[in-house]
Amino acid sequence: MSQTPYRRIDRRSRGLPASDGAGVRLTRVIGTQQLPDLDPFLLLDEFGSDKPGDYIAGFPSHPHRGFETVTYMLDGRMRHKDNHGNEGLLTPGAVQWMTAGRGIVHSEMPEQEHGLMRGFQLWVNLPAKDKMTAPQYQEFAPDRIPVAEPAAGVRVKVIAGQVGETEGPVKQPATDPLYLDILLDAGASFEQPVPEGHTAFAYAYEGAADIGGESEPVMKGDLLVFGRSGSVRFTARSASRLILVAGRPLREPVARYGPFVMNTKEQIMQAFVDYQEGRF
Ligand code: MN
Repeated sequence: MSQTPYRRIDRRSRGLPASDGAGVRLTRVIGTQQLPDLDPFLLLDEFGSDKPGDYIAGFPSHPHRGFETVTYMLDGRMRHKDNHGNEGLLTPGAVQWMTAGRGIVHSEMPEQEHGLMRGFQLWVNLPAKDKMTAPQYQEFAPDRIPVAEPAAGVRVKVIAGQVGETEGPVKQPATDPLYLDILLDAGASFEQPVPEGHTAFAYAYEGAADIGGESEPVMKGDLLVFGRSGSVRFTARSASRLILVAGRPLREPVARYGPFVMNTKEQIMQAFVDYQEGRF
């Protein structure tokens, strides 16, 4: 049997319509009953609508503990505020990598009343030793996200990890994440190595692309979960955009209830008590 250098595909799925916050309509890609998580990733939501009714209610004040939320805006403007006095505005192309750690309470509200609002929110788990760390933000305006152009017709926004010599600004030693936004012209190819053993997935949000070593393409709205060894390669059938995300699995027990992700049920109970008693 011949072996390709490419990661095989372990799973293909599509997101499900969901509603979160005060009634924001979105597509839940990871974090569904069919795909509860992909260690270390706990959730992936795609939001995208030009109908204000789908997003205007936003995500009013809510807590997080024990993991990281990563917001990547494609279109539209979102203002966030937290209970520690941090506030900022995410504009198109901006990234906010928020380490909730021991706890924050924040709101994420659209700063627009019409027009397109589009982007992703990814949740990344923290190892037991970091779950109660101090909250921290790694927030980058669009001009702080470097763009690699490894071949003609290929542009890669490097949020985390490395493409050739181009290094993304986000650092997280625990999970060593790769987060790329890949823009391909029709016919263009891009290949990316991924560390052995790291979890990797791709989600296509525009166009369609062939995958190295596979006969079936990835289409807009498809999630691909890759095997653990080899590189990944995309060749665009039409102008395409995909995110490619990878990270080191934590292999620790996950106790999860809504916005709290810990290792044991007792720690979840403690999170409720701490939140109710204002200790976030
Ligand atoms: Mn949040």
